[in-house]
Amino acid sequence: MAVWSGRATGHLVPDDIDILSPEERQRFSAFRDPVRAANFATAHAEVRRCLAQVLDLDPGAIRFGRHPCAGCGRSVHGRPYIQHPHTDWEFSLSRSGPYWLCAAAAGMRVGVDLECVRRTDFGSLASVVLSESERTYFQGVPAGRRDAEFIRCWTRKEAVVKASGIGVEATLGNIDVGPGRRAAVVSHSAAGCEVDTWLVTDLPTGSDYFSALAVPAFEEFTFFLGEKSSVHPIG
Ligand SMILES: [Zn+2]
Repeated sequence: MAVWSGRATGHLVPDDIDILSPEERQRFSAFRDPVRAANFATAHAEVRRCLAQVLDLDPGAIRFGRHPCAGCGRSVHGRPYIQHPHTDWEFSLSRSGPYWLCAAAAGMRVGVDLECVRRTDFGSLASVVLSESERTYFQGVPAGRRDAEFIRCWTRKEAVVKASGIGVEATLGNIDVGPGRRAAVVSHSAAGCEVDTWLVTDLPTGSDYFSALAVPAFEEFTFFLGEKSSVHPIG
């Protein structure tokens, strides 16, 4: 397994555009804000370069597809996969502001999420997003840290639902990600997903963002993370 992350400069690099797919270029062109457009292009180009290392081909030659959504069956927002080359490598990508994060694993589902810290409407979100025991946990979180802690908890849930393939349609309040522990074993099942127990862990965070990784709760995971993974910190 490999985990890569980076921070876009907000400046467009022509080389980045050259290796994007026609669909990615279309999405790039649809941004009205040039900085957001450049952040998008940088992230997608960098992810292509990272995946190209493990797939051993040209970054521009990679083609992505989407599995049918585990919730509604449509493929517009299903779990992304590598369509070309033919491979058992799975990957997950997340972006927020200038930051991007990508994890890839051979023959293993993986989900990542990265969120910039921001004000949240904790009062109305808590009852929908948090499980009962998570709400109890948040009673002990000082008000000044509550938004940040909520975002951290959110990234863990998103990492799990992205790995399972249900994404935005998941009932997040049913997923308990044990925010009081650095890593937690999480029960969550989705249609068409053979995994129902996940290991979720925080990834290195910055002053203004949190990120999390979810993988099937194999016993071998500790080995993967300790010996086989390469984590490139955001620079
Ligand atoms: Zn759906």
